[in-house]
Amino acid sequence: MTAAPTTTVPTITLNDGATIPQLGFGVYQVDPTDTKRATLAALEVGYRHIDTAEMYGNEQGVGEAVRDSGLDRADVFVTSKLNNGFHDRTDAASAFERTLDTLGFDYLDLFLIHWPLPAVGDFVETWKAMEEMHASGRVKTIGVSNFQPHQLQRLFDATGTVPAVNQIEVHPYLTQDDVRAFNTKHGIVTEAWSPIAQGKVLGDPVITAIAARVGKSAAQVTLRWHLQRGDVVFPKSVTRSRVEENFDLFDFELTTDDLARISALNRDERTGPNPDEFNWIP
Ligand code: NAD
Repeated sequence: MTAAPTTTVPTITLNDGATIPQLGFGVYQVDPTDTKRATLAALEVGYRHIDTAEMYGNEQGVGEAVRDSGLDRADVFVTSKLNNGFHDRTDAASAFERTLDTLGFDYLDLFLIHWPLPAVGDFVETWKAMEEMHASGRVKTIGVSNFQPHQLQRLFDATGTVPAVNQIEVHPYLTQDDVRAFNTKHGIVTEAWSPIAQGKVLGDPVITAIAARVGKSAAQVTLRWHLQRGDVVFPKSVTRSRVEENFDLFDFELTTDDLARISALNRDERTGPNPDEFNWIP
């Protein structure tokens, strides 16, 4: 790998003291046969945070890219997620071992319960397994994904612990003000998945007008909106020029008015499932 530029990505300190780069690279829907190449390209551009999941079927390519990059393992923050269908204490523990094996790592930076699956197994028992993995030192930070406030509250009440991260769908058409406020109130960092709504917000006239004024693309403006709101993002692209574009976010700033105008685009419109109704097992 050729030397990556000095990264300007800010880090956020989590409630367990670990730090996470605020901008990463997501690999959902990246073909397993292309994942090593795409991840190596992202690392070469300067990304130091990769978001994968067992469900994506491409953990192996992520692990290979990190190893082949020439970077120290400690310099790349890697997240994976417990696949649906392993929501009990024993199954969760073996799924975590499988994730480490597939990645070829001896530890993981962040492991998340991928979905709460209200009608499948028990996410409280699953969380107890996550706490045991954390205590073993083989995962540095544990968190959840797609949890609603009432599900987080049940977790706090049953276990007395607070996840470090809640990874939820957030973009200008789904601003998630209630869930984000609940996360913040409890010291949980919000990670915004599908940050550009898989491209759906890029033609929005409010966003394209701001983009024209600041001399950036609609994707850059949207990603900058997330960063200035304090969320963690990891846009996905397999196209080198877009991977570079999505990393080039640190030489401009949106005004308070820009932020408010983008936030006002909210329509509570999801691109993915509603976590209260989603119980799918692959
Ligand atoms: P995204 O909002 O990042 O959009 C990705 C799509 O937008 C790409 O396929 C590409 O077609 C297009 N795109 C990317 N950059 C562009 C640019 N600069 N200009 C024009 N088009 C561009 O959507 P995503 O991949 O669904 O979400 C990002 C990451 O979030 C995923 O890769 C994954 O890591 C994570 N995620 C998590 C969950 C979860 O349940 N926890 C669900 C979905 C995604």
